[in-house]
Amino acid sequence: MKIDVIGSGSAFSKRNNTSSIRIIDCQKNQWLIDCGPTVPRVIWQRNIDVNDIQVIYFTHIHPDHSSGLAALINQWKSFKRTEPLTIFCQAEQQQPLQALVDLAVWPETHVCFDIHWQDITDGFEWKHWQIRTANTQHEMSNKAIRITVDGKTLFYSGDGRPTLASQVLMKGADIAFQECASFAALPDDSSHGDLPDCERLLVDTEVKALGIYHCFDEAIPSLLNALADIPDMFLSRDGLQLDLDNLDLSEKTFNLLSIGQGDKL
Ligand SMILES: [Zn+2]
Repeated sequence: MKIDVIGSGSAFSKRNNTSSIRIIDCQKNQWLIDCGPTVPRVIWQRNIDVNDIQVIYFTHIHPDHSSGLAALINQWKSFKRTEPLTIFCQAEQQQPLQALVDLAVWPETHVCFDIHWQDITDGFEWKHWQIRTANTQHEMSNKAIRITVDGKTLFYSGDGRPTLASQVLMKGADIAFQECASFAALPDDSSHGDLPDCERLLVDTEVKALGIYHCFDEAIPSLLNALADIPDMFLSRDGLQLDLDNLDLSEKTFNLLSIGQGDKL
């Protein structure tokens, strides 16, 4: 499983793209998780073919995770995508996403490829991918996701503070990405994660590597400083490419990542 970090930033980040990752398996099946406003341009910069992404999974529909959908569908329409697209979202969040699809093609009403809408459930399969989801604690329902494919497991939190359920989902993953807005501890009823809680998660869940992301810009210098002394945790960042089948978890790699260098794990 290959992971391409499209963006790692918080909602209004001035330095990073909005948070999103792309996942590619051994058979070149390809998912995009979340699609905030700056995500489409990154996809175009990567020269990803209009037919390559088969699935978009929305953890939730705050605009920093969803509003890029209109621009992306518009580009796929303009460059004549032909392959069907599957969109996984929460049932009650489908209608606003449908409005973005409508906007993408307006004033026409026809999209030149099929879109299959699928409700997110607690557990399901897609091709040979095993998928489980669970809620984090957020202003709206947010579905963290655990994907196991080709013998490797990825966890991606979307947005929000870890819950017991999302923590169970994270357990033993080869790599986990956890939203971590703040360097300092936030109240227990907060909608966002923080570094002290992520340190606890790293121990409790025994993930092999924990990438924190969606951090407030102003927290990043303190986070980078602290991460230099936390083994197995790193600050995720735009453009990071990971190959879970050849994951280098050496201390040297983490040290490079911790100080903001190195493009690969
Ligand atoms: Zn959110």
